[in-house]
Amino acid sequence: MRQVKLILLANNLVRRPGLLAEHGLAFWLEDGVRRVLFDTGQGLVLCHNAAALGLKLGQVTDVVLSHGHYDHTGGLAQVAAVAGAVPPRLWMLPAATTAPRFSRHRDASMHDIGMPAPCRDALPRFARPVSSSDHGPVEIMPGVFATGPVPQLHAWEITSGFFLDAAGKQVDDFPDDQALWLDTAAGVVVLLGCAHAGCINTLELIRRQSGGRPLAAIVGGTHLGGADAVRVARTVAALREFAPAMLVPLHCTGDAVGVLKHAFPASCRAWGVGDGTTFDM
Ligand SMILES: [Zn+2]
Ligand SMILES: [Zn+2]
Repeated sequence: MRQVKLILLANNLVRRPGLLAEHGLAFWLEDGVRRVLFDTGQGLVLCHNAAALGLKLGQVTDVVLSHGHYDHTGGLAQVAAVAGAVPPRLWMLPAATTAPRFSRHRDASMHDIGMPAPCRDALPRFARPVSSSDHGPVEIMPGVFATGPVPQLHAWEITSGFFLDAAGKQVDDFPDDQALWLDTAAGVVVLLGCAHAGCINTLELIRRQSGGRPLAAIVGGTHLGGADAVRVARTVAALREFAPAMLVPLHCTGDAVGVLKHAFPASCRAWGVGDGTTFDM
């Protein structure tokens, strides 16, 4: 049976000695043929953690970006710098690079959170598959799919405070946001970046794309950090219906990790950098 190995390469939490944390997210996926990075973190820890874990960034065959923010794309330049003669394929939705991105903090200050300039400059050093378009799903390697754009059917999931301009006039509705899912023997495994388009919206899209297969795992950022109690409660209620066998909230889940642990004591796991698992495909 073919196996896919998943390793958390960058995250806000670390517990193992010798590894580093940052506000960012990156996963390593490999099946013995292809080596895929899903997001790159902000680039402060990617090279260090990869080296410490014995993972060779120069052997990455594919990079998939969940969206265009710095904390998911900031390691791109480093991946390009160590790439071999065959350029890695880069899978992202066009909107990840076509507009500047800003967030408004609680003190009303605006912050540029788009892809860093050195990473934009490195984009021509990746191969851009023709199918990396506005439409999903796209099969990255056998049984591993990028969703493409996420229809935002549940308005209550929409996060505020993100804009396409520094003046905060054009609301960012995340046309670049996508997730990755694995069609494993145990069911569907979902990898979330930040889930800006909504965690439940994303799960409903994947349920349609996968033909309604049971959900084996949800791993990644849920963007529940800072969410009000109503949205957290509605998310928990909807997650109960999906009933994932394993739930690993990471990165931007924030204080809601405690709520999820309480709501799903049997399935919720805490992962730090270097943690991971292997899936039979
Ligand atoms: Zn983001
Ligand atoms: Zn993020």
